[in-house]
Amino acid sequence: MRTLSIVIPVYNEQDSISPFLEAARPAVARALALMGNGATVEYLFVDDGSSDRTPDILGILSRLNGDVRHIRLSRNFGKEAALAAGIDHAAGDAVIPIDVDLQDPPEVIVEMVRHWLAGAQVVNARRADRSSDGWFKRWSARGFYRILNRLSDYPIPENVGDFRLLDRQAVDVLRQLGEQARFNKGLFSWIGFRVATVDYVRAARGAGASKWPWGKLWSLAIDGITASTTMPLRIWSYVGGVVALVAMAYAGFLVVRTLVTGIDVPGYASIMVAVLMLGGLNLLSLGIIGEYLGRVAREVRQRPLYIVAETPGAEPAPAVERL
Ligand code: UDP
Ligand code: MG
Repeated sequence: MRTLSIVIPVYNEQDSISPFLEAARPAVARALALMGNGATVEYLFVDDGSSDRTPDILGILSRLNGDVRHIRLSRNFGKEAALAAGIDHAAGDAVIPIDVDLQDPPEVIVEMVRHWLAGAQVVNARRADRSSDGWFKRWSARGFYRILNRLSDYPIPENVGDFRLLDRQAVDVLRQLGEQARFNKGLFSWIGFRVATVDYVRAARGAGASKWPWGKLWSLAIDGITASTTMPLRIWSYVGGVVALVAMAYAGFLVVRTLVTGIDVPGYASIMVAVLMLGGLNLLSLGIIGEYLGRVAREVRQRPLYIVAETPGAEPAPAVERL
């Protein structure tokens, strides 16, 4: 008997909840049919500190439906935290985070479950096109992923959001990651496992307005880069090294020129040499500090050194080994 957990973070979504359940039920029923006899579903809503009638609606729905549960956060913690809470509290053998606004089409769940039953442990849903977004959001998202993937040590697939299927093993690993600056998309990719991908077309928002103003998206982008990379810190070592080398060469040139042609502006050569050398050394030392800071950042994240997927023939290994 297997259970599917649908995890839905909601923040001031009073008008979206019932339409979501209505649209999701038929698709989920088909997914459960694939999963075989006795398969069950739980809809786990995470109320991210809503101030509208969302909590009342969730209370009523949970009472009326045996398969609806909800947890309520004490205030608005943001989608990343709400999603983490949902993943922590989900009981299913597979967990699917999904937005309540029907931008993630529930029919995709059927495809995800099909891949999961065929052995995939993480099933990504990739947006085949972003035509429901404006040009600026499309352009900025593309730029963000390009920069992120150039800097990051592990690839974070473009156009894949939080909407995906995670099997129990992946979920148990995610639950042990205690990172504060949460960037779920990065973590979902970092854990690895057998990954499958399904393509879908993202719909426009059902009801209500987007809860992601540009300011919040910008913070998420910064969190994403700083949580997944240490490269920007390292860049200064190279910049500093190059500047110091160039400064030294230029200093040599100035000294020779002063010796050969004499002094035109008194003090020019010595001042330039001092300024350039110090500038280069400053950047170089920033880079060295950056190297150590990058290591500190990695230690502080406390990600496990590795994750064991399976140990054939032996007792099943605990999901996460710490050094
Ligand atoms: N959400 C949340 N907390 C927040 C902001 C958003 O739980 O602080 C939820 C929201 O209710 C929705 C999902 O996250 O279910 C996606 O939000 P939204 O549709 O506003 O984001 P967009 O689709 O514009 O990126
Ligand atoms: Mg949305």
